[in-house]
Amino acid sequence: MKVLIVGGGGREHALAWKCAGEAGVTEVLVAPGNAGTAREPGVRNVAVAAEDLAGLVRLAAAERVDLTIVGPEAPLVAGIVDAFAAAGLACFGPSARCAQLEGSKVFAKEFLRRHGIPTARSRTFSAASLDEAWLRAQRAPLVVKASGLAAGKGVVIAASAEEALASARAMFAGQFGAAGREVLIEEFLEGEEASFIVMADGEHVVPLATSQDHKRLRDGDLGPNTGGMGAYSPAPVVSAALHARIMREVIEPTVCGLAAEGMPYTGFLYAGLMIARDGTPNVLEFNCRFGDPETQPVLARLKSDLTGLCRAALARRLDTARAEWDERAALGVVLAAQGYPDAVRRGDVIGGLERAAALPGKVFHAGTRLAGEAVVTSGGRVLCPVGLGAGVAEARRAAYALAQAIHFEGMQYRHDIGYRALARESAR
Ligand code: AMP
Repeated sequence: MKVLIVGGGGREHALAWKCAGEAGVTEVLVAPGNAGTAREPGVRNVAVAAEDLAGLVRLAAAERVDLTIVGPEAPLVAGIVDAFAAAGLACFGPSARCAQLEGSKVFAKEFLRRHGIPTARSRTFSAASLDEAWLRAQRAPLVVKASGLAAGKGVVIAASAEEALASARAMFAGQFGAAGREVLIEEFLEGEEASFIVMADGEHVVPLATSQDHKRLRDGDLGPNTGGMGAYSPAPVVSAALHARIMREVIEPTVCGLAAEGMPYTGFLYAGLMIARDGTPNVLEFNCRFGDPETQPVLARLKSDLTGLCRAALARRLDTARAEWDERAALGVVLAAQGYPDAVRRGDVIGGLERAAALPGKVFHAGTRLAGEAVVTSGGRVLCPVGLGAGVAEARRAAYALAQAIHFEGMQYRHDIGYRALARESAR
């Protein structure tokens, strides 16, 4: 079986690594990939951009690819699965209609409301309909969200109504291009965040191992929001009872609701949740893909074949499939470039990769490229070393041992990934 992974980040390196190690997989192509996928045994990079849908269809047809797995949201929202289907090619992911769950926060919010799925109260505005008097009457903090895709940057937690107003106006004025033409203003929810990710086949779902990421740049959850600075699995915040509640109150109504509305959802479905003190799993957002960096620790624990699960999903047979997990915990730390999440340094030589390769665990690449024999930085999130261990504390030691073996100019990372899980572990 030949597999194509679309994308070039840490998530895609983990997807490619996992698939390449599975029985029956002859080769994994990655478009466009990074230095990590270039060096991964059984994996070959192809210089086609993740947004070049026509180029990807041509590639998959020419290479006789049996299964394509899409990493990032942009090609999904742009309709890659529909384009592959039209060419008779198997592609695991949601259709463009379903991907609106991530591509349009207004669409997602209206869907959640229609189906009685818990979420923050909100109102939607355009530049013309902005109701300043209503906004000033709301209790701060307020959350302002650009409706469209804004590379994880379209959400502002505003400390006052004035700040919310200024954020909304900046979005209307084009801060995020067309993504900010419509803006949601919603109540601020307290609680603990959790990611809940499943694979869906339009009707049935297989929940993946639980995970939790860390969105803020600095230790103690301080500093600006990022794409994610680290993640671990399992996430003890999701107890067995909460797991059942999320399935019942969020995942099942979402998958059933979409099917009932004529858009059966196939692919990874990611619910970003805020767990309230009373246990209510409020949906903050949907993503129509696997998370980055959650993919890295979650796949490090997946014992079953991912390709088998994807093929079962494409055949609508996920009810017959199971995902088996390594009992150990996994934890990944993102090593980011100087300046991340704003303008970043690029082109710095990365040292210590060979030393790290001799240690237990796995270093997934994200913003890296080959420059001759050297591996150099080429993006904001550069690497994600993942450690495994009997508990989060042990997994964390292994991940940080890898991080400490690696160096590049301006490298920055959080030192406290997993702290909530560790507090829970040591309280036991
Ligand atoms: P989103 O892309 O909608 O998940 O928002 C990004 C981040 O903003 C989330 O991971 C939360 O940390 C925060 N956030 C979003 N919506 C809310 C909300 N209603 N209340 C509190 N925090 C929120």
